[in-house]
Amino acid sequence: MLKFLLRCLLVLFLVSTAMVTSTALGGSQPKPNVGIDSSIKRLAAREIDEDSLVAMVRFLSTKNSFGELRSRFVLREDDLKEVADSLCVRLERYTGGTAHRFPFTFEEKRFSPNDSTYTSENLVVRVPGTGRIDGLFIVSGHYDAIAHRTPGWQDDWQHMPAPGADDNGTGVATIMELARIIEPNTLPFDVLFVLFSAEELGRLGSEDFVANYDLYIGEDIIADITVDMIGYNGKGERGCALFSDYESGWLADWLEEISISEFPGFDFEIFKPSLGNSDHASFWDAGYNAVCFVEPGDEFGITYYPYYHTVQDTMGWIDFSQVKMVAQTIRDFFISVGNDTIPDYSILSSDIFLQRGDYPTSRKVFAEGDTLSLKVMVRNNLMCRLR
Ligand SMILES: [Zn+2]
Repeated sequence: MLKFLLRCLLVLFLVSTAMVTSTALGGSQPKPNVGIDSSIKRLAAREIDEDSLVAMVRFLSTKNSFGELRSRFVLREDDLKEVADSLCVRLERYTGGTAHRFPFTFEEKRFSPNDSTYTSENLVVRVPGTGRIDGLFIVSGHYDAIAHRTPGWQDDWQHMPAPGADDNGTGVATIMELARIIEPNTLPFDVLFVLFSAEELGRLGSEDFVANYDLYIGEDIIADITVDMIGYNGKGERGCALFSDYESGWLADWLEEISISEFPGFDFEIFKPSLGNSDHASFWDAGYNAVCFVEPGDEFGITYYPYYHTVQDTMGWIDFSQVKMVAQTIRDFFISVGNDTIPDYSILSSDIFLQRGDYPTSRKVFAEGDTLSLKVMVRNNLMCRLR
C-alpha cells in the first residue's frame, strides 16, 4: 500500500511539474476582471418567482381551469405539440430570441398500436452573453411525460393522462423561469435553454440533439446542467441530489459551494459516479461535462416519490420552495462564474481521482492486485481536458 501511495505522489508530482512548466511557457496570468459588475448586478437583482414556477407546472400538468389532467406522452403527438407551441411562444417572449424547433423521428413498438414511426421535437432558445467567456452553458430538461406504472395505462395511453407534474414539470418550470430572468448581455457567456422530448422512451431527444449539435449550434459547450424531477420532498428535508461523473466534478463542487452558502440547511448531495438515467448522460456519451439535478433520494439517488410515472404525478405533491432553491442555485452559479477570475490553468481537488481498471471509483478500500491509475484533470478556462 505504501509503495502504491508513493507511486501516486510521484505521478501527481510529475503531472504538477508538467503543469507548472506549461503555465510558465503560456505566460498565464489571471485575466483582469474588467467591466463585469454592472450587467451581472442586474441579473442578481432579478428574483426567481415561486408563483411563476407554480403557474408553469399547472399549465404543464392540466389542460383547463377545471384541473383536468393532460398527457404529455410523446406518442400523443398533437397533444405534445400543443404544449411545445405554447412553450416556444413563452420562450420567445421571455428572451426576445427565436425559439428553434429541432424535429426527429423514431420507431416505437412497445405501445399498442405498436408499429408506428413518430415525430417529436426539441425546443431550443439561446440567450446571448457579453462574449467575455467563449463557449456556452446548456440548461436542459425533458418536457415529455409517461404514466406506464399506472395499471392499464400501457394499453390505454391514448386516453389516459400523463401529467408529469414533478417528472418533469418541475425541471421545465425551472428552465422557463431561468429563461425569464436571465436577460441578454448580462452573463459573460451564452446560455442555451433546451427542452428535450422523448426522454421517457430512452433519452431519444437528447441523443438526437448531441448527435446533430455541430449542425444545429456548433459552438463549444462548457457544460450542460440538466434538471429532471426536483419537486418531491417526501422525507421532510428540503434538498437535492446532483448526479455527476468524475470529469464534471468541478461543476458539481461549484454548484454545491453556491448552495451551501445560499441555503445552509439545504441537503445537497453529490453522486459521483452516478446514474445516467436522464438527458445529462447523452452529454457524457458525447464527451461533454454535464450534471443533473434530481430530488432527494436513497443511497443510489433514486427517488422516494411514490407517484413517479403514474397518472397521480400531480402538483399537490410538489414542494415549490425546494424547486425555487434549485433554480436560484443555478442562477447564482452563473453569476459566480461571471464574477470569477479563472486562471488559464488550474487543478481543483475534484479534478484528481483514482480509477480502478476502466472505471472511476468512489471506494476508499482497494485489494491487493487492483490496477489503479491516478487521473489529474487540468482546467483550462473552464474547459476541462484530460491531459
Ligand atoms: Zn424525468
